[in-house]
Amino acid sequence: DIPGEDGTSKLAENLALGEITPAQCWHAAQAEWERGNPGAEIFRKELVWREFAYHLLHHTPQILTQNWKPDWDAFPWSEDASSAKFTAWKTGRTGLEFIDAAMRELYVTGTMHNRGRMIVASYLTKHLMTHWRLGQAWFEDCLIDWDPASNAMGWQWAAGSGPDAAPYFRVFNPETQIEKFDPDRRYRKMWIAEGQANPPPSAQQYFEAVPRSWGLSAQNAYPAPIVSAKDGRDIALSSYKTRDF
Ligand SMILES: Cc1cc2nc3c(=O)[nH]c(=O)nc-3n(C[C@H](O)[C@H](O)[C@H](O)COP(=O)(O)OP(=O)(O)OC[C@H]3O[C@@H](n4cnc5c(N)ncnc54)[C@H](O)[C@@H]3O)c2cc1C
Repeated sequence: DIPGEDGTSKLAENLALGEITPAQCWHAAQAEWERGNPGAEIFRKELVWREFAYHLLHHTPQILTQNWKPDWDAFPWSEDASSAKFTAWKTGRTGLEFIDAAMRELYVTGTMHNRGRMIVASYLTKHLMTHWRLGQAWFEDCLIDWDPASNAMGWQWAAGSGPDAAPYFRVFNPETQIEKFDPDRRYRKMWIAEGQANPPPSAQQYFEAVPRSWGLSAQNAYPAPIVSAKDGRDIALSSYKTRDF
């Protein structure tokens, strides 16, 4: 749960590319569990999420492109890929540190911690009222562990349109989430250069990695929130209440 710590297996890339099988992972974790390693149980639960995603994809392949719950088709998400909000999200310039740190981690490393994926997906689909398909496509472009089943399930879970989805009224607050999951600011310092006298190489790498046409530099002022945690929550909840489905 702590994105600033090296606490997960990072096997998603190897699994996605077929370099290792889930069965191998499962049996290795079983052996660890028998040796008394407490992390083995959680690791196996994560593997089961992956299996669940593949069952969903097999039985309901429309999960890749359509709302798994069709009554979400009427929801007024923006599908404008050139909107200022979507651009700010993509480029790590929303002014919300959790979102920006995670989006920059994605661009530099090709991966993102699961907690970050949940928060940035929730912010895009709820606070910014942008369709999950845009976020799904950006992840497909950027992730080295991109997996069609897990990506579609993750996005639809966060948006509220999937099976076993996060209920729409449970809107993650990116500000309280970052205080909870990055209490010592390690993750933020790792990825957000602006405002730091001596930013670490990881934070500076972002500006070397992005296309010059984005016009970004560590010397730019860090932006004010494009949509604050509170305003975004109010917008999302009122759209939900007045939805015509
Ligand atoms: C919006 C969103 C998009 C996502 N897109 C992808 C994707 O394209 N590819 C991908 O592999 N995972 C995706 N995930 C799931 C999860 O974030 C990653 O699998 C995990 O962060 C990979 O890190 P790890 O290998 O260190 O995982 P660990 O925590 O070490 O877990 C072990 C393995 O279990 C599987 N796993 C873990 N969590 C999940 C999960 N929530 N759903 C499905 N499988 C899981 C992965 O194969 C992972 O390698 C997404 C989640 C969300 C919320």
